[in-house]
Amino acid sequence: MPKKPELQKLESHKPKPKSDLQLRLAEMPAVDELLHEASRRGLLPRFPRTLVGDLLRSRLKIIKDRVVRENLQVKELFLPETFWPAIESALEEFLAPSLKVVINATGVVIHTNLGRSPLSAAAAGQIAAVAGRYSNLEYDLETGSRSIRYANVEDLLCRLSGAEAAMVVNNNAGAVLLALSALADGREVVVSRGELVEIGGAFRIPEIVVQGGAILREVGATNRTHLKDYEAAINEETALLLKVHTSNYRLLGFTGQPEVRELVALGRKHKIPVIEDLGSGNLLDLKAYGLPDEPTVREVMASGVDLVTFSGDKLLGGPQAGIVVGRKDLVEKLKKHPLNRALRIDKMTLAGLEVVLKCFLDPLTVVDKIPTLKMLTLTEAELKKRAQNLRRSIVRHCGADAGLQLKIEPETSRAGGGTMPMVELPTYCLFLRITDKSSAALEKYLRSRSLPVVVRIIDDWLVFDPRTIFTDEFPEIARACQELMDL
Ligand SMILES: *Cc1c(COP(=O)(O)O)cnc(C)c1O
Repeated sequence: MPKKPELQKLESHKPKPKSDLQLRLAEMPAVDELLHEASRRGLLPRFPRTLVGDLLRSRLKIIKDRVVRENLQVKELFLPETFWPAIESALEEFLAPSLKVVINATGVVIHTNLGRSPLSAAAAGQIAAVAGRYSNLEYDLETGSRSIRYANVEDLLCRLSGAEAAMVVNNNAGAVLLALSALADGREVVVSRGELVEIGGAFRIPEIVVQGGAILREVGATNRTHLKDYEAAINEETALLLKVHTSNYRLLGFTGQPEVRELVALGRKHKIPVIEDLGSGNLLDLKAYGLPDEPTVREVMASGVDLVTFSGDKLLGGPQAGIVVGRKDLVEKLKKHPLNRALRIDKMTLAGLEVVLKCFLDPLTVVDKIPTLKMLTLTEAELKKRAQNLRRSIVRHCGADAGLQLKIEPETSRAGGGTMPMVELPTYCLFLRITDKSSAALEKYLRSRSLPVVVRIIDDWLVFDPRTIFTDEFPEIARACQELMDL
């Protein structure tokens, strides 16, 4: 017999017994309760309320998911004695700067991923001084009227390069783009097939020419280009002859490019400017220090090239910037182009760049004042001594422990940053190994520190190259080694 309708109704209103899961989830703390507790523990108002709330919600969700999936009780997962310290350290970590100082033990001097050139204390100090206050960035203090922001470095750059005009923009890629846009828009740019390089980070000469609104006229072959190839490409649409420093690679064997002077003569004959993207662009002759004989910016200018572009943070050892030096009428065109406004250099960079450029006025002391140049020109004897000092710091800090293996061996450092790619800079490195501990795990730990140490691994040894380690960082490396022993 079917049930009576009234009875059915009554039954359906009877509260169902709660499932086990519901009972377990009922134990979850509410966000409001936790915010109250956060306040009691002093996390509020120390940290922003919305940040604390978001973090609590996401942690609660993780706990809830595990309660559901893994059949656990809330009290097994929500342990106040671990929950709150974890919340506090997560909040501290979130608010700490994520762009931070690292120790570069790789021996790659101009390490693009590690910020290229570290600045001297003088340059960094001037940046800090200008950044925190108003400045005469575009203000002539004599007349009280508006001035040009890079006036102070233009004069210095002319003095250092022998050029008649100069300007600076955000970086060298920007400088090349600006030069192409201002001087070759809609017209042809002649480039050797041996120089259609990719610098990295999607800066490729063929693409940058197109981006600049110009038409690429490739000439020659990959390994050899002759002057007659350039000459044959010239027509009434030719705007520029572009030379590109093959910064990060070398052609070896049956190769050849016309001399710069020949290219300049060809340009003059046809009234076409020759511009050169020098990449690193050294202002100092480095062959006296045993480094390769690359022409200085002054030498390139003297050979008659009309416009030269180079980076501020490669061999110049300064802040990120793109520097243009050359013929006044051409530089004027670049200055007036709308893209110049989009690529303009900021006051902090200018403040640092000025200090760095002034160091180059005295070629006898510049190497001691610019960290990048100092590192590149350290002698093998100095490097060996530094490796020994580093070992001494570590042994003094960690004590003699049979598990800690250290040795000093000859190795090679690199200039980096697409600078002098074939050059192997001889160095002495400190090799470190700890018995029964994987070097990969140790290397990973060093990266995870609040002051990370970036090292190379060679044959399962951690390798510290003293070339790129500041000597005042040795005690920190010693502390890090103690941490590795304690892992
Ligand atoms: C490095 C380099 C660039 C790019 O310079 P940034 O300052 O990094 O923008 C362009 N051309 C050459 C030849 C380079 O070596």
